[in-house]
Amino acid sequence: HGVTGILAVQGAFAEHAAMLDRLGAPWKLLRAAEDFDDSIDRVILPGGESTTQGKLLRSTGLFEPIAEHIAAGKPVFGTCAGMILLARRLDNDENVYFGALDAVVRRNAYGRQLGSFAATADFGSATGDFAISVAPGERVPESAASESIVLKDFPLVFIRGPFVAEVGERATVETSVDGNVVGLRQGKILATAFHPELTDDTRIHELFLGL
Ligand code: GLN
Repeated sequence: HGVTGILAVQGAFAEHAAMLDRLGAPWKLLRAAEDFDDSIDRVILPGGESTTQGKLLRSTGLFEPIAEHIAAGKPVFGTCAGMILLARRLDNDENVYFGALDAVVRRNAYGRQLGSFAATADFGSATGDFAISVAPGERVPESAASESIVLKDFPLVFIRGPFVAEVGERATVETSVDGNVVGLRQGKILATAFHPELTDDTRIHELFLGL
């Protein structure tokens, strides 16, 4: 494995770093364009405020290397604001950032009551004989294809997360809560409206490191 680059211009980057520490996986904070060196083989886009992150991506020069990384089909994991940065289109905001994830996302769409809440759901779209079920506290098997893994009873923490208004053909729904899509995958792109880095469940990060 190489190093996970964690976008660290704003938001919950330290929590992702702490998750990777628990897994013994090397990481590097991305604050300036020169931080994105050849050691980086995957990228995390953390939660935070997507408009601010978008501006800072431009002013730091980190936008281009991360966009090239994603265009090359290399692994990227966006949580919350990170999902907004990855989306093909936002339906209540004119900005488009990486535009890589085939989904239309709405910012701050959950009402005040639902803005921040916790839930539990399975993460993963595999069904039938192909599904490898990983219980809470179990390690994600490194050898298994990530498409075949289902993480049972994953704790979902939402903080003014994005609402997925539309899922395109290229993306796959990995988690839903009350009929709302909250986890997506498209090749080596993972995106969650929730914050696994704010729980002590490392399974989605393990899955990401296996991509
Ligand atoms: N509401 C934030 C945004 O639009 C995302 C919230 C989060 O990342 N916790 O950028």
